[in-house]
Amino acid sequence: MSNSPIATPKADILVIDDTPENLALLSQILKDKGYKVRSVTKPSTGLRGAQAAPPDLILLDVKMPEMDGYEVCKRLKADQRTHDIPVIFISALGELLDKVTAFEVGGVDYITKPFQVEEVLARLETHLTICNLQKQLQAQNKQLQQEIVERTAAEEKFGVIFRYSPNPIAIATLTEGRFLDINPSFLKLTGYSQTEVIGRTIAELNPSLTPEIYDSAVQYLLENGSLHNKEYEIYTKEGQPRVVLISTELIELAGVQCTLSIINDITERKRMEDEFISLVSHELRTPMNSIIGALDLLGTQKLGTLTELGQQTINIATNNMERLIRLVNDILDLERIKSGKIAMRYIECQADKLLNEATQAMQAMADSAQVNLSVEPTSVQIHADPDRILQTLTNLLSNAIKFSEPGETVWLRSSVNCEYLQIEVQDRGRGIPQDKLQLIFERFQQVDASDSRAKGGTGLGLPICRTIVEQHNGRIWVESSLGEGSTFYVQLPLSKELGTGD
Ligand code: ADP
Repeated sequence: MSNSPIATPKADILVIDDTPENLALLSQILKDKGYKVRSVTKPSTGLRGAQAAPPDLILLDVKMPEMDGYEVCKRLKADQRTHDIPVIFISALGELLDKVTAFEVGGVDYITKPFQVEEVLARLETHLTICNLQKQLQAQNKQLQQEIVERTAAEEKFGVIFRYSPNPIAIATLTEGRFLDINPSFLKLTGYSQTEVIGRTIAELNPSLTPEIYDSAVQYLLENGSLHNKEYEIYTKEGQPRVVLISTELIELAGVQCTLSIINDITERKRMEDEFISLVSHELRTPMNSIIGALDLLGTQKLGTLTELGQQTINIATNNMERLIRLVNDILDLERIKSGKIAMRYIECQADKLLNEATQAMQAMADSAQVNLSVEPTSVQIHADPDRILQTLTNLLSNAIKFSEPGETVWLRSSVNCEYLQIEVQDRGRGIPQDKLQLIFERFQQVDASDSRAKGGTGLGLPICRTIVEQHNGRIWVESSLGEGSTFYVQLPLSKELGTGD
């Protein structure tokens, strides 16, 4: 028989047969087919060989003097090392093969003599393949088991983090904001029970987070993928306001887009911050007023004649003191409006009158900056505090003028729809980067750190505008393109009962 050289044997076969002629014949056939063959005539030697180096398959004679094939098979199956090796029984010519016993003791197949070479090889191949598949299956099974163990451990770990997180955490659907899961810290913060929250929407639970606020947060999330430390005011079940910072990520749960929000309750911090600002501002005002008085007195030269340099120095000191006073006044103003210490004096007022007044007030500044002011007023009545609306408009106009180049125009426009008066302050100045559009309405936020010095601002103008507009139940926002200019929008409700101030 010709045999082609094979680099690695196909499989390792152990043949146990007490008849040397049988052994020689079978071994030769298998070797010719590329198998590695070990052949032994004594069952005990075969058993030891199989235990020492487990073969891939065993061909086992049934009738042997020392120990019959069934017994050998039983011992193989009883041993951990040889348990999984497929055993095929061979019965010699004229021998009676007890097929039932052959299978009972763990054999996988049997061959009776006289056999056809092809049949032996085919059966061998089949069992080797089955055995290999079984091994693969076992390995995959083991790996799966391992993965399940790891996943369960990870789930347990994250479950613990979720449950014991000191920060309130909520998972809600993106489209409706319907709560799917919340942790105990969330319940502690809001005062609700699990069943009162799950299945309800954020707006149902917290009417202060109106659909508009929710939609704009969703819009921001879809555009940016996440939202960081956005400040909101929420209410507990008892109606207590809490100031919170919310950070949200978009996640997918069972194919549904959801939001994962981590909440940080900063109510106390905020209160202390406000108290601190108010205290510092009050404490600063007294010495500042006496300094400015002293500078004034020096400037009048009643205390002695000043050199030109001396006068210049006093002017610098006076300018900076005035700036400082403006800053402290703005801080106090903001703090007072926010805390409701300054009540709005709502009256019926004409929008066109307010717009014209604001333009007149800013005309001198526009002239000195060589900026044109264009006003398009609308004749409509609003229920508002005229002084505060004027403060808002002059603030927006002053910014628009500050950030315009000489020769450019600043527009003050207005229009009316069924619910709102909309006022627009538009400039063709340097514009505001997209990521700063919301931020500049927060305290001390400027696009450029040098803006306060270069443009004389305090970083409090827009927060004051926002607070005033929100007290009127209105909205303020900005749209801008870098290098092309900005438009600030103020929407004020037309005929809402806002209550009257003192
Ligand atoms: P400030 O007193 O510094 O003007 P604001 O709160 O009024 O404080 O404005 C905050 C910052 O917003 C400004 O310092 C500036 O960086 C930016 N800003 C406001 N209005 C405009 C505008 N019309 N064009 C460009 N940037 C602006």
